[in-house]
Amino acid sequence: MNISYDFIIIGTGAGGGTIANRLAQSGKKILILERGTFLPREKENWNTTEVFLNNRYHTKEVWQDKNGKPLHPGTGYWVGGNTKVYGAALFRLRKEDFGELKHQGGISPAWPLSYDDFEPYYTRAEGLFDVHGQRGIDPTEPPMSDDYPYPAISNEPRIQDVCDRLKKHGYHPFPVPVGIKLNEKNPEDSACIRCDSCDGYPCLADAKADADVNCVRPIHHQENVTLITGAHVLRLLTSPDGRSVSEVEFQDAQGSVERVRGDRVIVSCGAINSAALLLRSANDKHPSGLANSSDQVGRNFMFHQAGAILSIHFDKLNTAKYMKTFSVNDFYFGEPGYDFPMGNVQLIGSFHKEMMISDAPWGTPGVVLDHMAKHAIPWWLTTEDLPDPENRVQWVNGTVKLSYTQNNVTSFKRLMNRWTEVLKEVGGDDSILPLDAYFTKRIPLEGVGHQNGTCKFGTDPKTSVLNLNCRTHDIDNLYIVDGSFFVSSGAVNPSLTIIANALRVGDHLLEIAG
Ligand SMILES: Cc1cc2nc3c(=O)[nH]c(=O)nc-3n(C[C@H](O)[C@H](O)[C@H](O)COP(=O)(O)OP(=O)(O)OC[C@H]3O[C@@H](n4cnc5c(N)ncnc54)[C@H](O)[C@@H]3O)c2cc1C
Ligand code: SF4
Repeated sequence: MNISYDFIIIGTGAGGGTIANRLAQSGKKILILERGTFLPREKENWNTTEVFLNNRYHTKEVWQDKNGKPLHPGTGYWVGGNTKVYGAALFRLRKEDFGELKHQGGISPAWPLSYDDFEPYYTRAEGLFDVHGQRGIDPTEPPMSDDYPYPAISNEPRIQDVCDRLKKHGYHPFPVPVGIKLNEKNPEDSACIRCDSCDGYPCLADAKADADVNCVRPIHHQENVTLITGAHVLRLLTSPDGRSVSEVEFQDAQGSVERVRGDRVIVSCGAINSAALLLRSANDKHPSGLANSSDQVGRNFMFHQAGAILSIHFDKLNTAKYMKTFSVNDFYFGEPGYDFPMGNVQLIGSFHKEMMISDAPWGTPGVVLDHMAKHAIPWWLTTEDLPDPENRVQWVNGTVKLSYTQNNVTSFKRLMNRWTEVLKEVGGDDSILPLDAYFTKRIPLEGVGHQNGTCKFGTDPKTSVLNLNCRTHDIDNLYIVDGSFFVSSGAVNPSLTIIANALRVGDHLLEIAG
């Protein structure tokens, strides 16, 4: 291909899709290379067996863990990346997350920029991704310069009941900020039908604010934008002096290997795949991988200590369809007697018996699972994962090796136990019989949905991969805008921060591109 582009963007997830949308408005010549295709709109989008048991939208790639054992990652390659299946909970990091925080398991380091630097971009990100929410209830909420674009999503009756009980006991549940296009006031104008298959599923109605629907589709037919799907970027080649990326090599959908050139190359393959791409692009000038003079590429991989709790109240049917409506941050920074951050609690969007099959004792009859699921409320708990250089991505024998050892476990266990106690405390006060059950599960390494770290940004080229504009210290025209740049992970879902940062870097690129 003989055309040269102003920008080549690799990947179209939260980071890549957002920056493509931002840069496209400038009229600059943009090439987007996306490994996946548009995710098919089909009935299976909302089929729990297909999505959760058959992993229909996950890659079939097999990675390896630190012991060389096969790892089947819960990630997918589509236009829109993992936002196609995300729960669309679009939180800002807390103001304090940008500073140094002392955790029970170690230090969560300070970011080189502050919350105030990110604030205007968070506001724009919330606009771009149609966030519904309500300010002023969450005690940990950072200062915000504008209101959410849309009102909070209401709780369905069973969920409202739990919310009310929590409030009665002195807790502070607040609406989850979510990017779903639900218009409760005028349902006839609502793209979203408030279904029971959102969190973890693609949206058949295209009503989830994902990077495909909100960022790529509005721009990919523009004259200045070329989108090539099925374009798997294999490696980046550098100029003889090693200071710039000269060509991007990719395999197209037909299997041919092509090379393209661009003034600036923006990598956004997700924190794991971006690091892998840099590492497998090693050459004479960059023997340990591109932009890796610091030996930091791939290191400090984080994906959150995350777990689920199922609270089952057999005397209370739960008919709620869409439950990702409130969250609790009362333990985010700890609690009396425990002066360390614990994390975030939020509802999972929906729950179905199929989601229990792999964890239920073998032979549990379907009717029992069904009964449990119909009385269950599913919770998602997240504790910060601390950056550890030994938790890392490597490129070994043509595949990703993901070495990971859990940290900050005491705080995570404490949060799980504490929330179970809270649920017992608030849920049991009108139960006639002790009919409640609580099941907990930690999300294993396969669940790499919240991946971040791996190419942290900073001012010192010796200890960071990217500068403050997310340009690599070593290579002048190479940028990374996915979750790789995170210095610490906080304990809220990462996408809004990735989106805000991509807008920030997009502004910078347009400024310097003239
Ligand atoms: C089930 C699930 C639920 C989630 N829920 C939430 C939530 O509620 N809130 C939240 O904030 N986050 C959530 N997340 C996480 C969220 O999806 C990610 O944080 C976000 O998508 C990351 O954005 P990214 O740009 O870093 O990477 P991705 O979105 O993963 O995008 C990477 C892109 O790069 C492409 N790509 C990869 N390698 C190559 C290559 N070599 N060549 C070309 N293209 C390539 C991929 O196909 C993809 O399009 C969830 C994730 C999952 C899996
Ligand atoms: S709840 Fe709305 S946005 Fe989510 S999958 Fe259903 S229709 Fe789509």
